Amino acid sequence: MTESPDRYAVTGHPIGHSKSPFIHRWFAAVTGQGLRYDALACALDGFREVVRRFRAEGGLGMNVTLPFKEEAFALADLRTERADLAGAVNTLSFRDDGSVHGDNTDGVGLIRDLRDNHGVALAGRRILMVGAGGAARGVFPAILDEVPRRLVVVNRSPERAEALAARFAGGPVEACGFGDLGGTAFDIVINATSGGLSGERAPPVPISAFRPGGAGYDMVYAPEPTSFLLWCRAAGASVAVDGAGMLVEQGAASFRSWRGVRPPTARVIEALRAELARGD
Ligand code: NAP
Repeated sequence: MTESPDRYAVTGHPIGHSKSPFIHRWFAAVTGQGLRYDALACALDGFREVVRRFRAEGGLGMNVTLPFKEEAFALADLRTERADLAGAVNTLSFRDDGSVHGDNTDGVGLIRDLRDNHGVALAGRRILMVGAGGAARGVFPAILDEVPRRLVVVNRSPERAEALAARFAGGPVEACGFGDLGGTAFDIVINATSGGLSGERAPPVPISAFRPGGAGYDMVYAPEPTSFLLWCRAAGASVAVDGAGMLVEQGAASFRSWRGVRPPTARVIEALRAELARGD
């Protein structure tokens, strides 16, 4: 009799677009791990039920995406410090003792891609975060661990930027409005808004807010350069990259916590880019 493979999954709403199954199947192939990874549809009020059913079927771990990361946080019995700081969980592990462990790997995914894959150091730099939603909050702890000189957050709804800065008060973090951005040139500008795909308008950051030769990073990923990345290039960026690498790197950190093996990521990022280009 053949044993059924260990099971993992991603859930979110919507979930049809998710590239996590593609990425984790690649990780399984390149590390020689036998496992099954599915995308699970979930109604907006159905998160706990989807998790309960998956666990009952023997599932060992889940990735969680929009809009359930806060619910995943609340569901976890034990959480990593970075998940506690972020107030959101994107990786659940179902332990043998029945407990649920929650982690947030978005921040480490961003840092690995920006710093290790693209050679952009964050230490001592002036960083502008555009957007103050769950993704921005999720990556703040990892950015602060890199010890930037300043980390300024700007958002369409200013009260959300202020709440995010207040959550990490005591360090180099500040909030400001788009109209206040004229005075400082930032070394690194990160787009963590869900607007700004190609064809949509980039967030209204003045070009003077970007130090020529600096780095622009868009957490959004798309086959074509996003309008934010086109804006970065127009502002003289030396590096302008989208979030495909972050997606793979955050997945690699989840995979490692489940399987104890860190998958190599370069080939998987390449494969994901080819997949995005095919429009699959
Ligand atoms: P979220 O919690 O819904 O927050 C959305 C953010 O985008 C808020 O700051 C919101 O501003 C802003 N926003 C939305 N539409 C806008 C527009 N037209 N103009 C200006 N600002 C706008 O979403 P999230 O979880 O933070 O995700 C943000 C993006 O990051 C998504 O595209 C997501 O796919 C991406 N992401 C990528 C990765 C990766 O691995 N590459 C990981 C996580 C997230 P308000 O507060 O004013 O509404």
